[in-house]
Amino acid sequence: MAGEFDLIGRIRARAGTRPDVALGIGDDAALLRVPVDHELAVSTDTLIAGVHFPDDTAPADIGWKALAVNLSDLAAMAALPAWALLSLTLPSDDSDWLDGFLDGFDELTRLHDVALVGGDTTRGPLAITITAHGFAPNGVALRRSGARIGDDIWVTGTLGDAAGALAQWQGGGPRSAKLRFRLDRPTPRIAAGLALRGLATAAIDLSDGLAGDLGHVIVASMVGAQIDLGRLPTSRILADHFADEPRRWNLQLSGGDDYELCFTAPAANALAIERALAASDTAATVIGCITAGDGIAWATPEGEAFVPRASGYDHFAGGRA
Ligand code: ADP
Ligand code: MG
Repeated sequence: MAGEFDLIGRIRARAGTRPDVALGIGDDAALLRVPVDHELAVSTDTLIAGVHFPDDTAPADIGWKALAVNLSDLAAMAALPAWALLSLTLPSDDSDWLDGFLDGFDELTRLHDVALVGGDTTRGPLAITITAHGFAPNGVALRRSGARIGDDIWVTGTLGDAAGALAQWQGGGPRSAKLRFRLDRPTPRIAAGLALRGLATAAIDLSDGLAGDLGHVIVASMVGAQIDLGRLPTSRILADHFADEPRRWNLQLSGGDDYELCFTAPAANALAIERALAASDTAATVIGCITAGDGIAWATPEGEAFVPRASGYDHFAGGRA
């Protein structure tokens, strides 16, 4: 048994720092310096045990993922991460669990030079809320509302692996450790987001599935979209485990937890985008285009229309279909 202040002490010992942190953990508030001529991008997300990760998830994986989903939101804005706040609700003052959590959390803070500058520690059912802060030069951040008719629609990485892992976990059949890794350790596409400054017209990160998230972009941009299902980037491992195409497409469109970026850009920028993303070690694929009108038209490789299963995840709509 550790007690609240011992837990905070353990967190503080591993918080990291940066020159733009005038005052970190330990006072009533942190004091932080935003670079001149930059906007501060701020985003928060909560992870709840059993809702956002399976109950058997390792503490280090929870620590990684809780930060990764927040950095992913900064990536989608083309912001450079800087600081994080961590609000922990823990069932008990279990310092072993906390040390494991911090192992995964720290791994990612070191990769992206993020300083943990404050938070809150309370007792209750396991829940983690992180607020991530980053910078972008004034006017440069990518929004959901910038897509224009005729733009290409791109996605980074591959889609559906995490949803495949969740389906296997829920289905009780054979499970792939590689798919499960994609569920537990999403990669926030920070370098890709930065590379897309000045090249993309709109961006979003894929947390709830392409159907729902691209849906947000076209509504915000007042346009429509056409997607070729045959072009969806698909990992070999997902194709091996989910050979049935309509089932796989549903995982890729409605499953969620990919944390890839979906972005739009004029076709004239395609070559520059390929070069910029290659330089940041990120694969990306054009999967369709922005159209006049509204809604998303999904076309199979045979040219037939496809209707995805209920799109996106709504916590107040009774969960996944
Ligand atoms: P207060 O009562 O003034 O809110 P707390 O006792 O809650 O202060 O916290 C003391 C310090 O520890 C503050 O700087 C706070 O930001 C930090 N802190 C508390 N919990 C966490 C946490 N889970 N992660 C990071 N910093 C934390
Ligand atoms: Mg407090």
